[in-house]
Amino acid sequence: MKIVRFSSERIGHGRIGVVDGESIVDVTKAIGGEAEEWPPVLPVRLISEFDRLRPALEAAVAEGPRLARREVTLETPIPWPHKLIAIPVNYHAHALEMSSPAISINAGFFILSNSSLSGADEPIVLPDLPGRQIHHEAEVAVIIGRRGRHIAREDAREYIFGLSCLLDITVRGRQERAIRKSYDTFTPVGPWIVTADEVGAFDDLDVHLWVNGDLRQKTNTRHMIMDIPQIVEMCSSVMTLEPGDIIATGTGEGVGPIHAGDEVKINISRVGAMSVRVEQGAHGANVAIPYDV
Ligand code: MN
Repeated sequence: MKIVRFSSERIGHGRIGVVDGESIVDVTKAIGGEAEEWPPVLPVRLISEFDRLRPALEAAVAEGPRLARREVTLETPIPWPHKLIAIPVNYHAHALEMSSPAISINAGFFILSNSSLSGADEPIVLPDLPGRQIHHEAEVAVIIGRRGRHIAREDAREYIFGLSCLLDITVRGRQERAIRKSYDTFTPVGPWIVTADEVGAFDDLDVHLWVNGDLRQKTNTRHMIMDIPQIVEMCSSVMTLEPGDIIATGTGEGVGPIHAGDEVKINISRVGAMSVRVEQGAHGANVAIPYDV
């Protein structure tokens, strides 16, 4: 099942949909709760109760109101997760291009601000940081489906709800990763969540990224230093994972700068593709002090 969160002029925002061919079926009613509730945790509730809700969702897909893709704006699938986790330097070739000592080493994880999340139809807004490079990183997002602590890698799959495409937009430099990667709109996720049963194996997914049609990144999840089950094991050895938690699993080689006016496209095999446009914002220079990198 491919699950989207969307808005449309006709029916408002925060709606939950299931992708059915070329159309999107609004299944918000079948989940219960309010699409426009605050905090916006309807997707987290859907994930945590998915097994119980699945028959109602399937029935809703058969009958529910359908919208064309062009009628909707895709929002970030999980705007209010309990955690947004990211893995640094998880591909050998990217470690080499960054001259990172982390190659082959489990460097752990870091935490990003949930407020950096955005959706497939929303722009990346660049902060006003003249002279600083801002890079694209194409990544597989793992969406946790069940609460768990001390999850063995052999059991990790049972705790994974699905996958999404994720762009980990990054200001290069030596400040803490959390500040350089947490600007609003710096973590586009989408276009949907694909449930794990539709993805199949996690360890042979092609990940491609283009900027304005030029291929910039091309890797496969088989080249990960820590694979997805190991990532779940490592993160859950420290903290309880909750339904809806998002893990950005690291990027392959070929990262590079993005500029206002660019179109950044990510494609992950058996997951999906999204194209996100880049805009220049007027703010963001006040706390991120520029310096040479
Ligand atoms: Mn990254």
